[in-house]
Amino acid sequence: MGLLSVVVPCYNEEESVSLFYQELLKNCSFLAEKNLELELLYIDDGSKDRTAEEVKKLCGKDKRVHLISFSRNFGKEAAMYAGLEHAKGDYVVLMDVDLQDPPSLLPQMFAYIEEGYTSVATRRVSRKGEPPIRSFFARMFYRLMKKISRTEIMDGARDYRMMTRQMVDAILSMQEYNRFTKGIFGWVGFETKWLEYENVERARGETKWNFWRLLLYSLDGITAFSTVPLMLASFVGVFFCVIAFAMIIFIIVRKLIFGDPVSGWPSLVCIILMTSGVQFFCTGILGQYLAKAYMEVKRRPIYLIKEEL
Ligand code: UDP
Ligand code: MG
Repeated sequence: MGLLSVVVPCYNEEESVSLFYQELLKNCSFLAEKNLELELLYIDDGSKDRTAEEVKKLCGKDKRVHLISFSRNFGKEAAMYAGLEHAKGDYVVLMDVDLQDPPSLLPQMFAYIEEGYTSVATRRVSRKGEPPIRSFFARMFYRLMKKISRTEIMDGARDYRMMTRQMVDAILSMQEYNRFTKGIFGWVGFETKWLEYENVERARGETKWNFWRLLLYSLDGITAFSTVPLMLASFVGVFFCVIAFAMIIFIIVRKLIFGDPVSGWPSLVCIILMTSGVQFFCTGILGQYLAKAYMEVKRRPIYLIKEEL
């Protein structure tokens, strides 16, 4: 008999925990046909509400339910890593607890795994119900990533994904501290089948991602999977030197032929402002990578467990 592990990160999701459990079981009748057992891992990412208590109630009723509680909020990336590390299944699924990842897709996903795919991933083809400005920046991010990173990062990709043990082990072998799972999935490779679906709105509770947090997350993604920004300083430097050289020639020639005095401090001020702006910007980029490297060198654990059930 095979085992299917479902990993669900939860942060302040007391309302969704049992609802998710019910919906999942409704869609798990295919497991018996495929001779599979189920294991459900709730990762409580340092919730401040009654999420852990809700999961414990389920643990009491159903032996297949497990709880891992973090000592504080470590973020969804850490929660997913902990889930993958603790999952014993031959197949593992990552899912959100808010039912934005429809459990009805599970039988189809497993069918593709049986066909021989190593992982079955999902992506949203619409962003219905999302603020337009957020969708706009999300699209920009994916277009930029396509240009500056060699790792494939799919537009609209969700973390909702079924994987075989082989892929789970590959992901666990990447023990970096700055985790950007969407990039890690692409980086490890293997044959991936993409399923598409229309965006589903959250069943209960609220999203944990405001605009600012998403912006910082996208910067994490860029620094984790591209070093192109580091080259920016060199390119801009060369570009400015060429312009400066052309201007020097122009001014000398003008002086020799027309005898014009060199005029104007406004232009000078603009040039100084512009070049120093670019310099600060490039130093900032350098700082970003340095900070990431600094955190990486410390080799802190990705998460800490408070309680396990
Ligand atoms: N989540 C988490 N830790 C966090 C933030 C979110 O474990 O710090 C979980 C959350 O409980 C949910 C999933 O990650 O199960 C996705 O979060 P959310 O629905 O807020 O994101 P969205 O779907 O809006 O992108
Ligand atoms: Mg959600």
